[in-house]
Amino acid sequence: MTDAAAPVLAHVRGLVCVVCGETYEPAPDRYVCDHHGNEGILDVAYDYDTVGSAISKASLAADRDQTMWRYRALMPVGADAEVPPLTVGGTPMYDAPRLASAVGVRSVRVKDEGRQPTASLKDRASAMAVVKAREFGAEVVTTASTGNAAAALSGIAASVGQPNVIFVPASAPEAKIAQLLAYGSTVALVNGNYAAAFELCMSAASHFGWYNRNTGFNPYMTEGKKTAGLEILEQLHWNVPDAIFVSVGDGSIIGGLHKAMKDATALGWIDSMPRIFGIQAAGSDYLVQAFESGEDVLTKAPIAADTVADSISADLPRDRIKAMAAVVETGGVYLRVSDADILAAIPLLARGSGVFAEPAGAAAYAGLIAAAGQGLVGSDDRVVVLSTGSGLKDVASAMRAVTEAGTEPMRVDPSLDSLLAAMDNQT
Ligand SMILES: *Cc1c(COP(=O)(O)O)cnc(C)c1O
Ligand SMILES: [Zn+2]
Repeated sequence: MTDAAAPVLAHVRGLVCVVCGETYEPAPDRYVCDHHGNEGILDVAYDYDTVGSAISKASLAADRDQTMWRYRALMPVGADAEVPPLTVGGTPMYDAPRLASAVGVRSVRVKDEGRQPTASLKDRASAMAVVKAREFGAEVVTTASTGNAAAALSGIAASVGQPNVIFVPASAPEAKIAQLLAYGSTVALVNGNYAAAFELCMSAASHFGWYNRNTGFNPYMTEGKKTAGLEILEQLHWNVPDAIFVSVGDGSIIGGLHKAMKDATALGWIDSMPRIFGIQAAGSDYLVQAFESGEDVLTKAPIAADTVADSISADLPRDRIKAMAAVVETGGVYLRVSDADILAAIPLLARGSGVFAEPAGAAAYAGLIAAAGQGLVGSDDRVVVLSTGSGLKDVASAMRAVTEAGTEPMRVDPSLDSLLAAMDNQT
């Protein structure tokens, strides 16, 4: 159950349906458009004059808060809203000159979202969900997830003692399930895929009146994820990169990046857009298909997704309208990469930058390799690769990746002779 009244936020104009443009007042049970059901995802619209009087490049430069909440004047929360204590946001972005020369672009920067408290970018959205759930007085918050959104909600809820119920496919990587259990969530391992877990979570949420964090349903998740894009701009001193590479499952992260760029444009902080490249696994390429065929994502039927990159496995990307707009409106491209290329990208990214990513994180770098191979980026381009989750999330895939890369440890007895013999054998 949720309290009736939500606080009035002067800087929020309303929630706008991405299909028909109808505007709604924020309310605890207002998730989607009345006319468009679950397809009618709502986008938070701001009064940029009010926002601009509260936050500027100069105020940001002087702000010592390095968490995502430094952007709170540009987020759908009150100025005095209590935020969870875990440090979300402020992730590093590394210059990776060896990757730049490997792919033939001017620069590559890798933003490492594996450094978040539960080790994926999803913490940005789940922190927002917990703030909204508490603002609305929700007793229980719930989500379905391929694993990372769940781990994020679970961890951030644990930091404030917020009861929560989680639905994940029983096949989710063990580390992600371990996180849920360690954090003490009520966990339903669903015998089925993410789509099945999603449907069950949706039914349970409406049956019990739980606050619903689901991706591509809760209108506030994009607003959390966009802080990654705002950080990228700030970390580049507002010099807009030429291209950003991000992996895409439901399409909420890529929609958030686009939202960041639109906000920054509306506030006069930037005057051009980076091209946003959406990278999907070949076995989960709904948006690539639609990009290539021009099919309307509102009506295109689901596919049967299957990929090693569990975090981007989605039969029907829930946030597909925003996801398509992010690429089309910025002159980017949707690209598919094979599971073999995704796995190969794990050690390439790790060795070239020091960032160890799970398959879905490395997929963004695999996408950059593919784009460079097709001449879609070149020697003048300054590129950002968003590495969305830690390699420790899925050690089994990492081991497969290094094996397939032909990397083998030396097997030695604890003697110098044995080591010397093994080292001779290596070359
Ligand atoms: C969720 C996730 C993605 C994809 O984000 P969407 O919003 O579903 O497109 C990519 N990488 C990782 C590590 C994720 O957890
Ligand atoms: Zn609508």
